[in-house]
Amino acid sequence: MFHNSTMKYFFTNCILIWVSCSSFSLVYAQSDQFKVVLDPGHGGRDPGNVQNGYYEKNITLSISKKIKTLLSKEPDVAVYLTRDKDVAIDLDARGPFANKIGADVFVSIHCDAHDSNAYGAGTFVLGLHRADKNLNVVKRENAVIYREEGYTENYSKFNSDAIGVSVIQEENLNQSIQLAYKVQNSLVKKASRRDRKVKQAGFVVLYGTIMPSVLIEVGFLSNPNEGAFLNSSEGQYKIAEAIAAALVAYKNEFFMNTVSFEVPSKESSTYYQIQLAASDRKLLENDPFFKGLKPIYRDEGSGVIRYFYGRTNSSQTAQELLNLARNKGFKDAFIAETNE
Ligand SMILES: [Zn+2]
Repeated sequence: MFHNSTMKYFFTNCILIWVSCSSFSLVYAQSDQFKVVLDPGHGGRDPGNVQNGYYEKNITLSISKKIKTLLSKEPDVAVYLTRDKDVAIDLDARGPFANKIGADVFVSIHCDAHDSNAYGAGTFVLGLHRADKNLNVVKRENAVIYREEGYTENYSKFNSDAIGVSVIQEENLNQSIQLAYKVQNSLVKKASRRDRKVKQAGFVVLYGTIMPSVLIEVGFLSNPNEGAFLNSSEGQYKIAEAIAAALVAYKNEFFMNTVSFEVPSKESSTYYQIQLAASDRKLLENDPFFKGLKPIYRDEGSGVIRYFYGRTNSSQTAQELLNLARNKGFKDAFIAETNE
């Protein structure tokens, strides 16, 4: 750990010296792809809701595939599915799949059912709520864990009545809510769904992710009209279009990386950096916490560790870097000026 960071610091200094001695510039631009993991609910031996002859597991897979096709037209978006066929995947394996890929967002897709004539779409983020009005849908979506082998060991930390929120999901909650509102508004406006709002609930599948995550109940299979709509190719396409549009809007707002800048030469007496955070936690440069911002500098001088993004001579560029950092969710970020 120590060795690593020492090496990194050494390496950074080498780059700066090299820049100052050459006519080339080291230019940083954020160019990583926006990675989306779509999670078609249920599958295999777990059909999810079965109502009026409609199978949740088939509809969620079909919608997910349509979203993937739509998003494949976006050059800076990469889409991954937790399953692309009718197979069972444990709830607690879906989040880690997204973590391993380094996904920027995780979107779990489901269909609801109720013994009333209820209809409409709702979008959920992970919440700490106990026994509230969302508990029925939580119990239904979490129910599969009781049918999995060895569930007592795997899910002993989960309890539908009082699910905890991981520290990381808590940090991501603002971004999850931003994403949830975009999805929900799009389902209402573009797919003409009745608005069942953005809500918080304790879904196991969202617990294991380390990025902004939402679970969408696209509609009710138990409602004859909505069930037929969701089971139709046209209906699935409308839902897919609405979700894809929301993901693109979210990407454009939080991940469009339009600032490129040159790292100043070592002799520069004044430069600007964006302070993102101060913490006693030691994070690596590529930690998801930094949301892909590069380069990240760490200052361990004063007890707490301060984390900075970027380095530039230009106050105008510094302002652009600050805007980008704030758009990515670092609301308290500010420009720090250094004179050496
Ligand atoms: Zn479901």
